[in-house]
Amino acid sequence: MFLTHLVCSACDTEHDAAWLQNLCTKCRKPLLAKYDLKTVSQKLTRQKLRARVDNSLWRFRELLPLPQNVEPVSLGEGGTPLLRADRFGDQLGLADLWIKDESVNPTQSFKARGMSAAVSMAKHLGATKLAVPSAGNAGSALAAYAARAGLEAYIFMPYDTPQLNVIECCELGARVQLIDGLITDCAATIARRKTQEDWFEMSTLKEPYRLEGKKTLGYELAEQLGWWLPDVVLYPTGGGTGLIGMWKAFEELEALGWIGAKRPRMYSVQASGCAPIVRAFEAGAVHAAEFPNAHTRASGLRVPKAIGDFLILRILRESGGGAIAIDDDEMIRVTREVGGAEGLFIAPEGAACFAALRSLIDSGTIKLDEQVVVFNTGSGIKYLECYG
Ligand SMILES: *Cc1c(COP(=O)(O)O)cnc(C)c1O
Ligand SMILES: [Zn+2]
Repeated sequence: MFLTHLVCSACDTEHDAAWLQNLCTKCRKPLLAKYDLKTVSQKLTRQKLRARVDNSLWRFRELLPLPQNVEPVSLGEGGTPLLRADRFGDQLGLADLWIKDESVNPTQSFKARGMSAAVSMAKHLGATKLAVPSAGNAGSALAAYAARAGLEAYIFMPYDTPQLNVIECCELGARVQLIDGLITDCAATIARRKTQEDWFEMSTLKEPYRLEGKKTLGYELAEQLGWWLPDVVLYPTGGGTGLIGMWKAFEELEALGWIGAKRPRMYSVQASGCAPIVRAFEAGAVHAAEFPNAHTRASGLRVPKAIGDFLILRILRESGGGAIAIDDDEMIRVTREVGGAEGLFIAPEGAACFAALRSLIDSGTIKLDEQVVVFNTGSGIKYLECYG
């Protein structure tokens, strides 16, 4: 195993990776996994990686936290296609547009990546009851991976969560509790009862390993483009785990000597009804204030206060990218445009990125000769109440 320790993303305090950890015990900020990349670079080469038959994210085994002799909790997550989007690109005059299609993951969203890694580690380190607040895809992914691991999943959802999400969690064997309140009330319920109930909290960035699963987005992107990174990445940002994870992946790949110093300009795309990162980016702030009366039907973007806000904002600025908000109606319209042009029924979160792309081209922020990758993070099938 090449995982060495955990380090706080805010105060640099080191934490032991040998037992279950949530936030930094000193400052309550997210912990990041650190690896002995020097040794990894001696054992693993890009050629060896290419020869592996496992197409799941576990093919990056040396760069993931689970010891090599422990079987991961896996449903075949990751290894998703990077597809050209020529027809939609043509409509915009863009010659080099790609979609990383995460809808083909187990439970139809990229939440599967994070949960595969985090449930594997939680089980390995002795947790038996896993709890998460969710209004959508995180709940179903936890339900699936907990079932696969033989662990119990406790999922707290706002009472107005679409029925499909509730049914899916129940049919995957989770204990679902509907809360008369918002997602923040669900989180508060878990916080209040977790010690007494012996629940391990699996909220994103409140434990260190969902980030490790999601960083494989960055490895796959680099590998699929021939160990090269695009000019622009558009990412639908809620908690920002995928964005922070990809940036971490790029740093690790450079440390391994597999890519150079080039980085994409990273753009966070949010919903107009819940755009804390956009507001903070425009204000030049280091942290993002809680977004009042947050509302959007793109449940993945309904995160009024992200614990990793300072990390997201730092990455957007360091990369020379930005942040942009899109109306729900526009997301719903663009879903059909992309569907008709590319043959993918994308999630509204993914559609938000395509709408943002159009707007960034119109403003001259993205040039027509640039290579652009849009992340479609889930499937439209999970959002039937938004369509028709
Ligand atoms: C959770 C989710 C997001 C946001 O992901 P973060 O990495 O937490 O920002 C985007 N799209 C979908 C479909 C999601 O489920
Ligand atoms: Zn700290």
